[in-house]
Amino acid sequence: MNNIVEGGCFCGSVRYSFKFDKYPSANCYCSICRRISGAPFVSWLAIPSDLFKYLNNKPKKIKSSSHGNRFFCDECGTPIACVLEGDPKNINITIASLDKPQEFEPKAKIFVDDMLDWLK
Ligand SMILES: [Zn+2]
Ligand SMILES: [Zn+2]
Repeated sequence: MNNIVEGGCFCGSVRYSFKFDKYPSANCYCSICRRISGAPFVSWLAIPSDLFKYLNNKPKKIKSSSHGNRFFCDECGTPIACVLEGDPKNINITIASLDKPQEFEPKAKIFVDDMLDWLK
C-alpha cells in the first residue's frame, strides 16, 4: 500500500495528504456536525497536524463554536476539517472527503445522545 493518503473536496480545489497510519476515528452525531454538513452525522479522522498538509488551495475557516473552527472548500462547500482549541496538535478530517474512505472505518461514536431517532 502507498503510505501517503490523499483526499480533497468535490470540485478539486482543496487537496490534502498525510502519512498513512492508524489514527483515532469516530462518527459524530452532534448538532454542529449535522447542520454544517447537511447530513445526519460526520465521520472524523484525527491526524497529527505536523503529518498533514494541504497540497494546493487551503479551505475557508469558519468559527463553529466557542472552542472550534471548521474548514470547508469555498468553491464547492465540502466540509474538510475541524480543529478544536483544546486539541490544537490534531486536525480532524472528514473521512468521506478521503479518496479511499473505505480504508478508514470509524471506530467510535461520539455525541450519541444527539443522534436523530430515525438513525437508531
Ligand atoms: Zn471544492
Ligand atoms: Zn460533531
